[in-house]
Amino acid sequence: MGFRDECGVVGIYGAENAAALSYFALTSLQHRGQESAGIAVSDGTKIKLHKGMGLVSDVFEQGHFEALEGSIAVGHVRYATAGGRTIENAQPFMNSFKMGSIALAHNGQLVNYEELRESLEDGGSTFSSSSDTEVILKLIVRKFVENGGKLGSPRHADDELFVTAVTQAVKEIKGSFALCIMTENLLIGVRDPNGIRPLCLGRTGEGYVLTSESCAIDSVNGQFIRDVEPGEIVVINKDGIKSILTNDSLEIKKRTCIFEYVYFARPDSVIDGIAVQEARYKMGEVLAKESPVDADIVIGVPDSGLGAAQGYARASGVPYGMGIIKNKYIGRTFIAPTQKERENMVYVKLNAIRSDLEGKRVIVIDDSIVRGTTSRRLVQILRRAGAKEVHFRVSSPPVKFPCHLGIDTPSKNELISSTHELEEIRQEIGADSLAFISLEGMLKALGGTNFCKGCFNGEYPV
Ligand code: AMP
Repeated sequence: MGFRDECGVVGIYGAENAAALSYFALTSLQHRGQESAGIAVSDGTKIKLHKGMGLVSDVFEQGHFEALEGSIAVGHVRYATAGGRTIENAQPFMNSFKMGSIALAHNGQLVNYEELRESLEDGGSTFSSSSDTEVILKLIVRKFVENGGKLGSPRHADDELFVTAVTQAVKEIKGSFALCIMTENLLIGVRDPNGIRPLCLGRTGEGYVLTSESCAIDSVNGQFIRDVEPGEIVVINKDGIKSILTNDSLEIKKRTCIFEYVYFARPDSVIDGIAVQEARYKMGEVLAKESPVDADIVIGVPDSGLGAAQGYARASGVPYGMGIIKNKYIGRTFIAPTQKERENMVYVKLNAIRSDLEGKRVIVIDDSIVRGTTSRRLVQILRRAGAKEVHFRVSSPPVKFPCHLGIDTPSKNELISSTHELEEIRQEIGADSLAFISLEGMLKALGGTNFCKGCFNGEYPV
């Protein structure tokens, strides 16, 4: 499937060098996607787009910025499953018309993609990709034209019609979405009615920034203002900022993806009022209380297991050590196409520090076990380096259900916790003991219950 994405988005409004700021922001969102990167920029009269496959720093060269002048931009980094790794699916998507254009960047996944695409095709729309993002773009265009809008003629007179079209389109799409949308003269941010994927708003100089994670606001030396609310549409144009709420305000629908806190988000980000690293410390503390074990050292699997390992060490009194080093020059292994490659990539990605571990009883904390590939190899690596005992602790509950809302998890039969009992998994990965945090413990660590926890309990908000 080409439409299963976890991504990072950014939108800039009112900054002299919107493309450069987008480049910085996307670089700080690189962990959210390494497959493709792109930036669309408006100079007030036209939108130019550059995108390509690879890391942000591979896709953009000095020369591109000279061509990408303007004060409004949207940018995107993409993380796709193997099937969708093509330039056609790289974002932002752009539609150009005789007198104007729209560019759009999307993080998330639609669940009614197929019906919408079919009905748009029946109405004459054509598609150049298998991406659900293109469906959103074409739906907005359809609404705009149906309302009597003439794309780009003259742009500023059409702002209101355009915003109406976006609002109507947003009500028809179902699933998870954080969107940054632009025309030649406005920027719009949208978050789905459950706020599953994150999106926040900040200031940068005289301008504004919309982005998936607050770390990207810091990267442009901006100031965080607030998270975009579930179901909110934020419109930024020459008149300032306007907010449109599409949710019934009496209904509390917030269901932020819990896996953002487990694995996906950067530790220096704050999402919906919860500091990611703080949450990870607390998960480790809870895990130490739930599943203690006598040991000589606590270590974490870099990077996303480190916070929980420190919390575990703090709460248990067992000393914290480094123990594992991660190769900085290798991307996330999860997308290696075959199981064999995935397994061998772990040797390249992670290694043990013998002098930290030799002869010791080791507690190793990872943020999650998905297929079990990393944990199995890791136990071998730790034993190879002389660990006397290896006690595996996981700071999220067993992942039992695949995500259809934008996190790249394999099918159910590949999820080790879906097909195996705890003791079987322990044997499979070769650890002396194994424990996962409980879902209640995790919610306690996060200080709330309003999350999408579908990967753990099979209950999805959409
Ligand atoms: P696995 O090796 O399949 O059990 O996957 C677990 C490892 O992959 C852990 O070290 C996690 O930090 C990491 N991980 C968890 N979820 C994802 C994801 N959606 N994409 C990439 N890596 C992940």
